[in-house]
Amino acid sequence: MSLSYVHVEADSPWSTYLSQVDRVVPYLGRLARWVETLKRPKRTLIVDIPIEMDDGTVRHFEGYRSQHSLTRGPGKGGVRYHPDVTLEEVMALAAWMSIKNAAVNLPYGGAKGGIRVDPKLLSLKELEKLTRRYTSEIGIIIGPHQDIPAPDVNTNGQIMAWMMDTYSMNVGATATGVVTGKPIHLGGSLGRVKATGRGVFVTGREAARRIDLDLQGARVAVQGFGNVGSSAAELFGQAGAKIVAAQDHTGTIFNAAGFDLSELIPHVKNTGGVAGFRGSEPMANEDFWDVACEIMIPAALEGQITTDRARRLKAKLVLEGANGPTLPSADDVMADRGILVVPDVICNSGGVTVSYFEWVQDFSSFFWTEDEINVRLDKIMVGALRNIWDTADRHKITLRTATFAVACERILTAREERGLYP
Ligand code: NAD
Repeated sequence: MSLSYVHVEADSPWSTYLSQVDRVVPYLGRLARWVETLKRPKRTLIVDIPIEMDDGTVRHFEGYRSQHSLTRGPGKGGVRYHPDVTLEEVMALAAWMSIKNAAVNLPYGGAKGGIRVDPKLLSLKELEKLTRRYTSEIGIIIGPHQDIPAPDVNTNGQIMAWMMDTYSMNVGATATGVVTGKPIHLGGSLGRVKATGRGVFVTGREAARRIDLDLQGARVAVQGFGNVGSSAAELFGQAGAKIVAAQDHTGTIFNAAGFDLSELIPHVKNTGGVAGFRGSEPMANEDFWDVACEIMIPAALEGQITTDRARRLKAKLVLEGANGPTLPSADDVMADRGILVVPDVICNSGGVTVSYFEWVQDFSSFFWTEDEINVRLDKIMVGALRNIWDTADRHKITLRTATFAVACERILTAREERGLYP
């Protein structure tokens, strides 16, 4: 039965998620009787966030925190600030977190939050007020053992620091474990900032090895040059690949010889985007999907790889840095064309894996070296991907359906073992 409180459009993130769940049902055996529990969030909070702007006016913003599943542990998932955030998008992102956390076998459920706002239009003070009020409003359902937010699109370590401080002020004690992705001085973990990009690289490296794709000289196109896209690009660059195209909200750039990343990354930091980078030529946004490359990394927003774009892609390997970048119909086109897709729910799980390390370090007040973090991350991701690949080979299914099969089996087994209350 569909939910009455959201209007689900075709190809929207929530309908994409539902269709991904439907595809896994034949592989769930007797656990399939619990599948409906995956098709509705456990709870979702919608909050009003009034703030006094610098000019004295009062503005209201809409915020959300959705806890899709708490069956395997506390909620875990990022907070997104974006003008297009909707309840339905946050629900889908929370659900993908449940799948991701189970796929990597982290002891978490899945959650996600967001505010409908363009943070680029706010002053630093306004951004801080917005973050603090949002944290207070969702404070009734978050906590180190309840639900642990982290950064996502347009949120970062500073925002996590304000969230941690606000929550701590409200409970009367410093609670570093309430959020991850914090600055190092506040109980953050070494390696967290680049962990998602590193995970994209690790899964990409393993997938490339399996399809005999040499990373040396491989051409890579990256959509989204923020935290995830730029970190992944940097590691592929270090492995000898050439980043030939990049696209973000400011435009698309191209260089057949590969960008000099030691100049492009500072350019993006200083100007806010890839546009105008002098070691490149501009390209029409839609032409990005026709670029000759071996590896395509969508690392921006959902719904980017449509059927039409999937038909045009030149890449052999798609690494989903973003959450939900591919529509189900486009998945089928890529499978038919023999394009290997490493799905979001395993590909970008490096971030939450190091978030888990951060949370564990916060509880034990004992911090690991960056090398220890990176080695453990590599090991967990390689092991998780190997297990998923075996499942895909066994059932002759895509890596996405195999990841859902592994994850849903874990979630629904826990559901069955816990039983229904009362
Ligand atoms: P970010 O804010 O650092 O970067 C987002 C990037 O997307 C920016 O380069 C922005 O310009 C670009 N972008 C925005 N709108 C665009 C558009 N219409 N066309 C092209 N590019 C556009 O965010 P991030 O943390 O790098 O997140 C990127 C993706 O990775 C999101 O889907 C997010 O959910 C996912 N993700 C992030 C993390 C994390 O740890 N940060 C973890 C897992 C998944």
